Amino acid sequence: MKSALIVASLPLLALAHGPNPHQHARRQNLAASAPASSPAASSHASSAASGSPASSAAASSAAVPPAGSTSLFPTPTGALPSVSLASTNPTALPLASIVVNAPSAATQAMPTPQPAGAKPSAISNAPGLPDISTLLPSNYPALDKPPPTDSPQVLQWIQDVQNSGVKIPTFAPTVAGGCPANPAAVADQTRCWWTCGGCTRQTDVTTCPDKYTWGLTYDDGPAPYTPDLLSYLDQANLKSTFFVVGSRAISYPALLQQEYMGGHQIAVHTWSHPSLTTLTNEEIIAELGWSKKIIKDVLGVTPTMMRPPFGDIDDRVRAISQAMDLTPVIWTRISPMATFDTDDFNIHGGVTSVQQVLANWEDILGNVSTINTGFIVLEHDLFQQSVEVATGYILPDALAHQPAFRIEPVVSCLNLPMGDAYIETNNNGTNPLPLSGASY
Ligand SMILES: [Zn+2]
Repeated sequence: MKSALIVASLPLLALAHGPNPHQHARRQNLAASAPASSPAASSHASSAASGSPASSAAASSAAVPPAGSTSLFPTPTGALPSVSLASTNPTALPLASIVVNAPSAATQAMPTPQPAGAKPSAISNAPGLPDISTLLPSNYPALDKPPPTDSPQVLQWIQDVQNSGVKIPTFAPTVAGGCPANPAAVADQTRCWWTCGGCTRQTDVTTCPDKYTWGLTYDDGPAPYTPDLLSYLDQANLKSTFFVVGSRAISYPALLQQEYMGGHQIAVHTWSHPSLTTLTNEEIIAELGWSKKIIKDVLGVTPTMMRPPFGDIDDRVRAISQAMDLTPVIWTRISPMATFDTDDFNIHGGVTSVQQVLANWEDILGNVSTINTGFIVLEHDLFQQSVEVATGYILPDALAHQPAFRIEPVVSCLNLPMGDAYIETNNNGTNPLPLSGASY
């Protein structure tokens, strides 16, 4: 039932992700002999996300399995964290197969483009889909590279931002290397730099308002294993928010259409996945602008939400996002050691293990019960390992959770209609956009 479409190599994005410093501390605490940070991990230390000061190690989440649960990881050697899940997918890949250098599993055939003019049932006033058979990659920037800032399109978007009247703070970009490399920026609280200290503004979405509501999100796709995730979500009748990278959207436009037509929310995650605080204003505008444009060209609608790669946002990135009508969505963070990041991205590169990712998930569940709001978790659909851990373990466990979770896209968890996820269909009366005017 699966065709043998072979996975194209997935490029620079892997290099762009740093390890999560929080998990380093946890890994030491929970799993003395879990795979050590690979050489790749230390070479990624320059990413902005890797610079947060690690604080004291989190309490172990090694759990006593509740009655009736499945104990997946007895720890005879003490090597790996012990995790028990309320439910798993009977067809899940064994954990021993969800590893670095796992052979590429066969992928489902890519969907064919939707007929031009088709409309998603989830949005009553949606425009018809564009005809993507004429989409020309040569009309877009090179894949996975920061787009040039002197193209006519970007010059227009820069002008639009200037015309927006939004005041962009004048402080300089950060330098590569994250918090340790930027002591002055870290100390400057007026920047409100989330990466180093978790500062947020009222305009940031970091949780869902209602307790036990999970704003489900997957980042960095669409990608070759996304169809497996979509099949599972369909089966379970779940909808998600997908923060898509522009370079992936132009590579898999029919898959992006399938997500959108299936009732999922599509949102912006830049063109080439850089740490936005390290970029100039013009470079940030180019990253967000091209990502908005490819989504509009494939779907006919322009997202109203964005997620900064690595959560790397400060007041300069916020202001530019606002001027481009984008509301930032990060993920829940209740303390330096309790960020709702599964670290699933790092199984593929061998920086972490699937067992550690599930231990992180259990930590998140423990924290969910302590907060009065809902929550948003960082997960990815770029690599097969993160899709396998989601469909085999995390989602089945979440669906069996008591009390039951309400699991839905971010726009829905905010109690807004799906139409408010896009500029063209947003209800400006009930949900004023940060700003309107720029055209894509
Ligand atoms: Zn990302």
